[in-house]
Amino acid sequence: MSVVGIDVGFQNCYIAVARSGGIETITNDYSDRCTPLLRNVITNFKNTVHGFKKFHGRAFDDPFVQAEKPKLPYSLHKLANGNAGIKVRYLDEDKVFTVEQITGMLLNKLKETSESALKKPVVDCVISVPSFFTDAERRSVFDASQIAGLNCLRLINDTTAVALAYGIYKQDLPTPEERPRNVVFVDMGHSSFQVSVTAFNKGKLKVLATAFDPYLGGRNFDEVLVDYFCEEFKGKYKLNVRDNPRALLRLHQECEKLKKLMSANSSDLPLNIECFMNDIDVTSRMNRGHFEEMSAQYLMRVEMPLKTALEQSKLSRDDIYAVEIVGGATRSPAIKERISKFFGKDVSTTLNADEAVARGCALQCA
Ligand code: ATP
Ligand code: MG
Repeated sequence: MSVVGIDVGFQNCYIAVARSGGIETITNDYSDRCTPLLRNVITNFKNTVHGFKKFHGRAFDDPFVQAEKPKLPYSLHKLANGNAGIKVRYLDEDKVFTVEQITGMLLNKLKETSESALKKPVVDCVISVPSFFTDAERRSVFDASQIAGLNCLRLINDTTAVALAYGIYKQDLPTPEERPRNVVFVDMGHSSFQVSVTAFNKGKLKVLATAFDPYLGGRNFDEVLVDYFCEEFKGKYKLNVRDNPRALLRLHQECEKLKKLMSANSSDLPLNIECFMNDIDVTSRMNRGHFEEMSAQYLMRVEMPLKTALEQSKLSRDDIYAVEIVGGATRSPAIKERISKFFGKDVSTTLNADEAVARGCALQCA
């Protein structure tokens, strides 16, 4: 029976499996967090459950949960045990699910996907969680795996998974007697930012330090754009986008696309949305320079975890062999620049930015 590695990201999920020929990522036309729901995201937004990863192990009254609540297209309810429950329409009935049940459904979907790709039953798995997850949060993810009918052999930290994925490819690591090779891993996803410093020798790795900003990720940059266009459309078209959840969701999607385009292109780019709201077509422009100016408050926060991790590792910049970046948001030039400026060296992209975590999970039990 195969052991699969699962990266449950805030936005994207990946599955990998260790086979005799090496690590394989299971093809991912379902790499979105909630495939069946996301497809209908606009028409069926109240039933589209996303962004719940960080509700694991948290009480409904937790300030983070309360702060997220108004941004969600679905509604949250306080469960009898004080946890946050998620309300969705299920089989024509409003039903409140626990976060474990929702993640359980997602994991079950990933289990089925793996089974159809591998053509055999999949039960055993290794799941990654952010390094800053508390015991309660880990427990909650573990419970979700049981609901999904999976046997979770281990929960490992995202940062450890990435280090494992790196180690396996490097044939030229120092022998155990030699001085280790120190590598910094920087992962910025949709919702969080994680940094680690790891020392490698052949067949051995030691995580020297981990640091993070649990609330800094790609979505903050999407929101900068959303805020800007909401404001602009209020003046230009007299539209109150924030009063219309469907339009707001659409704007979010368009802003994320625009953000990605700006990573590759520094010229002025258009934002056009037809029949956006009240039958009005909206149009505007944005460029990288302006976007970066508006994002200053978030870009500023990139340095702190880098600094903390380096200090904790007790290494100096000269001891660092390479700075490896993963996670979708590290594709932004402004973020890359800050990382490379801090360490005084170019960043490396040895690893597959999207799949490294899942691959590391698969390796853990290979
Ligand atoms: P997390 O690790 O926080 O749980 P995740 O693992 O789901 O989240 P990733 O898949 O690593 O997150 O990254 C998704 C983020 O990367 C999104 O915010 C997405 O917009 C952003 N992103 C992807 N490609 C680019 C790009 N070319 N330029 C800028 N941002 C990008
Ligand atoms: Mg991630």
